[in-house]
Amino acid sequence: MDYVNGPGRHHLFVPGPVNIPEPVIRAMNRNNEDYRSPAIPAMTKVLLEDVKMIFKTTSGTPFLIPTTGTGAWESALTNTLSPGDRIVSFLIGQFSLLWIDQQQRLKFNVDVVESDWGQGANLEVLEAKLAEDRAHSIKAICIVHNETATGVTNNLAKVRQLLDDYGHPALLLVDGVSSICALDFRMDEWGVDVALTGSQKALSLPTGIGIVCASPKALEASKSAKSVRVFFDWNDYLKFYKLGTYWPYTPSIQLLYGLRAALDLIFEEGLDNVIARHSRLGKATRLAVEAWGLKNCTQKEEWYSDTVTAVLVPPYIDSTEIVKRAWKRYNLSLGLGLNKVAGKVFRIGHLGNLNEVL
Ligand code: PLP
Repeated sequence: MDYVNGPGRHHLFVPGPVNIPEPVIRAMNRNNEDYRSPAIPAMTKVLLEDVKMIFKTTSGTPFLIPTTGTGAWESALTNTLSPGDRIVSFLIGQFSLLWIDQQQRLKFNVDVVESDWGQGANLEVLEAKLAEDRAHSIKAICIVHNETATGVTNNLAKVRQLLDDYGHPALLLVDGVSSICALDFRMDEWGVDVALTGSQKALSLPTGIGIVCASPKALEASKSAKSVRVFFDWNDYLKFYKLGTYWPYTPSIQLLYGLRAALDLIFEEGLDNVIARHSRLGKATRLAVEAWGLKNCTQKEEWYSDTVTAVLVPPYIDSTEIVKRAWKRYNLSLGLGLNKVAGKVFRIGHLGNLNEVL
């Protein structure tokens, strides 16, 4: 067999799913419970309040949806927009590409703003579009905060500033899948209308909860948005929030206890300390890559990501071979290069509950 892991402890360094800390594993090791009993709604009520802190919002409404990041994307789009709506979306790597594909399949009219893989969102093009759009035909800006395929972090404060400079009312929908809980993210301050993440990334949980947070403006937009939605309809959640039972369908009890434990760990360390730790580990990784004589796929310092580093390999080496060898020889999982950068980069994930030695 070519692709089995070798001896020794498994070292998981893909940029998600990430290692689950022991206290979280222990918190999840439990039987099922009746989600209609008083205990689970009481727990959910507190979780919904606490989860707002990872988005840095007081005015947002969170939804804990049994899904992945891809479902969270769909929830953000279908609850706020109608088929045919014009949106601006930035293509800078595999995950922004997949989100754009979803936007197109949901029948939105997407202005795709493409950059080289390794560059951030082209905000000059955004500025030109906003300046030109006096009729406000653009209904939403969709942006991936941290493109996990290339290790590129976009400047969301700048996007907000441009929207404000042009007095443009477009909704700001942000994929924070590999940023929230690890990078500086300020939903209220940056006027983000929908922010979303997945449990298997910086929260260091198993896959299975898509966490979506909607601003008051996004909730208002959902009242007139015509996209078909069933499983992802925020309204169903809101109905049950009002009733105080919280769940329109069965949640994973174990994941809820896991989320509780994960949030406790983050709050105990302090969210700003968690962010500072990611910044330190990100810098350390980049310094190591430089010391190896290799280059970062990210083309400018302003876009360097503190959660994932995509390392360019010399043209005579296939990066897939490096990933295979790391797996086989060291029981070490590194991220493959995806799509356009397949064979050209390997990725080191440095997000979640980890320190300098793991
Ligand atoms: N967005 C980003 C930035 C991601 O990195 C990923 C997955 O890695 C996704 C979205 C898709 O998330 P999922 O695989 O949980 O559906």
